[in-house]
Amino acid sequence: MRKIQIAEPTLGEEEWLAVKEPIESGWLTQGPKVQAFEKEFSAEHNISHALATTSCTTALHLALAGMGVGPGDEVIVPAFTWIATANAVVYCGAKPVFCDIDLATFNMCPNDLKSKITDKTKVIIPVHLFGLFADMDAIKEIAGDILILEDAACAAGASYNGKYAGEIGNAAAFSFHPRKSITTGEGGMVTTNDSALYETMSILRNHGASVSAEVRHVGAKPYLLPEFNHLGFNHRMSDVQAAIGLVQIKKMRGFIEERNKWAAYYKDKLSSIDWLNTPHTPDGCLHAYQAFVCYVDESKSPMPRNQIMEYLQENGIYTRPGTHAVHMLGYYKENYGMKPEDCPNARDADQYSMAIPLHNKMAQEDYDYVIEKLLAL
Ligand SMILES: *Cc1c(COP(=O)(O)O)cnc(C)c1O
Repeated sequence: MRKIQIAEPTLGEEEWLAVKEPIESGWLTQGPKVQAFEKEFSAEHNISHALATTSCTTALHLALAGMGVGPGDEVIVPAFTWIATANAVVYCGAKPVFCDIDLATFNMCPNDLKSKITDKTKVIIPVHLFGLFADMDAIKEIAGDILILEDAACAAGASYNGKYAGEIGNAAAFSFHPRKSITTGEGGMVTTNDSALYETMSILRNHGASVSAEVRHVGAKPYLLPEFNHLGFNHRMSDVQAAIGLVQIKKMRGFIEERNKWAAYYKDKLSSIDWLNTPHTPDGCLHAYQAFVCYVDESKSPMPRNQIMEYLQENGIYTRPGTHAVHMLGYYKENYGMKPEDCPNARDADQYSMAIPLHNKMAQEDYDYVIEKLLAL
């Protein structure tokens, strides 16, 4: 029987060879490879500044800290996202405020966003879920002077009317976890066109260290350490990871092109299944298809979603819910008194969404096999 994973990273000989250099040179932590990776990444995303981090979670944390988010502030996040989006807000001592989503795109609903803004709202975090941009024109108009941090964990290489994540909002955070479009094992990146925010984030990424006034004046001396005027973190990426990232970033466009080809194939071949809503891509969006997430309409489906997922697994096809409704998870339910009906679309997406396999290790026969099993239901 075939075994088709929901996601698989695509790494090979080039990545294997790339890690040789940092290992042989002994420069393992943030160094020349990180700098080169940041340069390539920002060039690919048409942005002035990029900072590599240990993950997207720390990238989000770094950006929020850099924006000055703290106790007493509110940050609006969509309720249907990976838990890290909300957790990063809590790390800063601020309050996450959950906004509902649109079921057609699984992204932040602009109308609901409007109703969640208060005079405490400091930042809005639209998530480009599964590699599809949120409705940024509408969100930006509603936001006015409120800062926007794009959670682009799934959206490396994705675009919106020709713009990349970080170009519309004040900053964007990306992930290189193996389930995302390109990977460095663990890893992340913050991008921004705001030079002042970039400077602050560079300092906070490295324990709050900045070049001392004395060094600036007399030059480096063996006895002079940096200045530490801020509470910073260690969110630095290693040069070993960046060496892998440098290879992966060159493959990114090809990966996305291939994913789009197979997504179109799925959409065409599965269009006769009236209970399965395949992903909708609004005009002007280049979808990165980090995942191919469908919505099961149980009023028409032959069996409930969970049973469909079990049937597929019995046939060697691994599926997952798109992601979870964060406002329904124990920590947020307990500490923020959230109820499922507070964000009904996020609740439904949690219950009825289903990601089917789509990744760069799959071949024609794999796609045909998934299609055959779904059509047989
Ligand atoms: C994966 C993901 C994250 C977290 O990324 P890490 O690199 O694993 O920390 C955050 N937000 C979203 C939307 C994600 O999909």
